[in-house]
Amino acid sequence: MAIADTIRSNKSALAFSVAAVIVAVTSGSIFNAMHQAEPIVAGAGVTAQKMLSSFEPSLAGGPGDTPVFEIGSDKAGGTLAVLGGTHPQEIAGMMAAVLLIENVKVTQGKLIVVPQSNRSGFTHTDPMEAYLHSYEVDTPGGKRWFRVGMRLANPVHQWPDPDIFIHYPSREGMVGHETRNLNRNHPGRKDGWLVGRVSYALTQLAKTSTMIFDLHEAQPEYPVINKMVSHENAFEVSATAQSNLQARRIPMGLEKSPKNLHGLSHREFGDHANALSILAESANPAMGRFRGRTSEELVIGGKDVNYVKAAQLGRLFVRFDESGWPLNVRVARHLASIEEVINAYNEINPDKQIIVENFPKYKDVVEKGLGPFLKPPPKV
Ligand SMILES: [Zn+2]
Repeated sequence: MAIADTIRSNKSALAFSVAAVIVAVTSGSIFNAMHQAEPIVAGAGVTAQKMLSSFEPSLAGGPGDTPVFEIGSDKAGGTLAVLGGTHPQEIAGMMAAVLLIENVKVTQGKLIVVPQSNRSGFTHTDPMEAYLHSYEVDTPGGKRWFRVGMRLANPVHQWPDPDIFIHYPSREGMVGHETRNLNRNHPGRKDGWLVGRVSYALTQLAKTSTMIFDLHEAQPEYPVINKMVSHENAFEVSATAQSNLQARRIPMGLEKSPKNLHGLSHREFGDHANALSILAESANPAMGRFRGRTSEELVIGGKDVNYVKAAQLGRLFVRFDESGWPLNVRVARHLASIEEVINAYNEINPDKQIIVENFPKYKDVVEKGLGPFLKPPPKV
């Protein structure tokens, strides 16, 4: 090779190496930034903060470990555990949990709130779904930011998926990627893979609770929507709560947890932790197959012309008009459901009540939005 050719070849190799370094540094910093958790500010009612690893030490310091907030009291009563972020792209669940943490006080009994149950799932999004990485909410004290994660745990944290996921202990077979779905792993395994151990820790947490309420969302074309799904052990509470919600003109369906559908919180926490177990779903158009561009307007505003059309064609299981299903309405529905579940439980168990003060009111959350219920962004 002539000397001039060698110099040219070295120059292009150098240019290629520099470009590779730039791409690696840029993508590496985006990848790292996805692991930064959004701030959640403990309100005045929070009496203890710990990590989920206090229920299963093998999670300590790893990607499945996640904050647990206790809002307790000096007076003995029932304990309600609230789980948000079991599926991190179902953002109303986590936001309802955050509003509890930042606002309420308990004067009898205890609330335990886990806002990001599948913490690993908050560190990535589904690349084929074009989800936002995060969104912002205006508060009187400045902007707060929150993540849109993914239903499944991050494959960086648990991989490879088996061809068939065998649920423990039922031995029910499911498609392989469900091995990273927290809400198919319950009651979990102490010596299992990451998501199995997160589930095991949550089952131990459920064993310390009287009731457990798991907050979800689903696409408007999914039949189980604006509904509670209740273990038979919670049916008296959930049916009473449903009629109280109905009386407040917040229509909410109720379904009984099927006995042969395994791995789900409403079935397994009831069977294995003896906690009254309920799951709630709100309607999130940003998750649906009919949606248009997955913009912040869709994620937070919940408006989508395609869904209006789908509703007109009778394809949906909820009403859908120009006002859509904004995030604050979905969060308000979750909060009202929690409130009525507590009221129903208290009616049935007057000797071990859970008394919660400063509960964000449905009407206020719908009319004023989430901002007034969020603390100012913490200074870093
Ligand atoms: Zn879900």
